[in-house]
Amino acid sequence: MLFTDVIRKKRDGSELSDDEIQLFVDGLADNSLPAEQVSALAMAIYLNSMSFDEASKLTLAMAASGTVLDWSKEGLDGPVIDKHSTGGVGDKVSFMLAPIAAACGCYVPMISGRGLGHTGGTTDKVESIPGYNATPDFEGFRKTVKDAGCAIIGQTTDLAPADRRLYSIRDVTGTIGSVPLITASILSKKIAAGLQGLVMDVKVGSGAFMETSQRAQKLARSIISTAAKAGLKTHALITDMNEVLGTTVGNALEIEEAVLYLRNEQRDARLDEVTLSLCAEMLVVVGIETDRAKAREKCDDAVTSGRAAEVFGRMVSAMGGPGDFVENYGKHLVNAPVVRPIRASGYVAAMDTRAIGNAIIELGGGRHTVGESLDLAVGFSHVVSIGTHLDGETPLAIVHAASDEDADAAEQNLLAACEFGDSAPEDRPVIGEILTG
Ligand code: URA
Repeated sequence: MLFTDVIRKKRDGSELSDDEIQLFVDGLADNSLPAEQVSALAMAIYLNSMSFDEASKLTLAMAASGTVLDWSKEGLDGPVIDKHSTGGVGDKVSFMLAPIAAACGCYVPMISGRGLGHTGGTTDKVESIPGYNATPDFEGFRKTVKDAGCAIIGQTTDLAPADRRLYSIRDVTGTIGSVPLITASILSKKIAAGLQGLVMDVKVGSGAFMETSQRAQKLARSIISTAAKAGLKTHALITDMNEVLGTTVGNALEIEEAVLYLRNEQRDARLDEVTLSLCAEMLVVVGIETDRAKAREKCDDAVTSGRAAEVFGRMVSAMGGPGDFVENYGKHLVNAPVVRPIRASGYVAAMDTRAIGNAIIELGGGRHTVGESLDLAVGFSHVVSIGTHLDGETPLAIVHAASDEDADAAEQNLLAACEFGDSAPEDRPVIGEILTG
């Protein structure tokens, strides 16, 4: 079978057979397909989509392209569950959620992704912690999950390698926002992780790959039904991504915000809502709680009691990071040489959140090309939320940059991405629908 025929078939809108999809996945996993052919097929899928059967085949084949973990012999005294986000700007939820869920009796083997398009990646962010090995061997991963209750790692060469390659090519070829490709990408990693349950954070809005609720719901349904086919019980929350989540964007800056949250010192209201809602849903999916309000109280208590911070500290040190990271994060995280406020006046009326994500790429905090290394220190902190009134004194945000020129460009980009008005816009709820199958 010639791969060019497979590309032509999808380009012309036909359904691919199981064998053709398997050929694609095998060629991704063993690197035998050149990047041009992978991108051509990804673009054809992006434009012509896939049926449910095609997307399911792609997902299962990608999950089986490497090792599939089995936690059943580990003697764990709690359920194995994870959450995954479809990608946002300032989304540092995983760093709080994994230790909170672990403190509530779950085990969370979280296999995360690197930055994708304008969105930041959990793997890149966690690598801001000096010494943290985000690509351990299975033994290191297994031991950390078992001992600490959670481990956040990146994709290793043996877990869903087909997704690893396709993900890096989609990142730079404008082929991300496709329902079947996102479904297969996310679920291949989650099925390979051997989970008993999954909660999806399906983002909607100007900073999400799905910009309308209709598209977000379509993606949520696609993920839930494809996961069900693989025996993975999944719930999905549709959450707002029309503004930066929390007050920071940028790798090390987001880690700092997550630590402050876990220390119960600074909990941005929208970030808190998303984190606790997703975490509570995890407890519901695996049956630790049946009532969402009670589950949420339990998660909140894990933060206020300091138990989640302890779990995070244990995970960081087990993965090679500093033993005193939670206590002394400021000593360990990198700082940018240029740090200065960006000022504006009026009510913040709207944000083009995708443009803010792109501003981080321009600062060096995200990638233009496959494999590019990142400046982990750059980004924005103290980002105010939509509806804030700025009097010209309180900054819109603080930029962290490698040079004055970069800071100037980032300032222009951030101001251009925000709309200002004479009155506050209506409040938008941060949590939309909850889909349970
Ligand atoms: N997260 C993933 O892992 N894959 C996608 O395609 C989008 C978000």
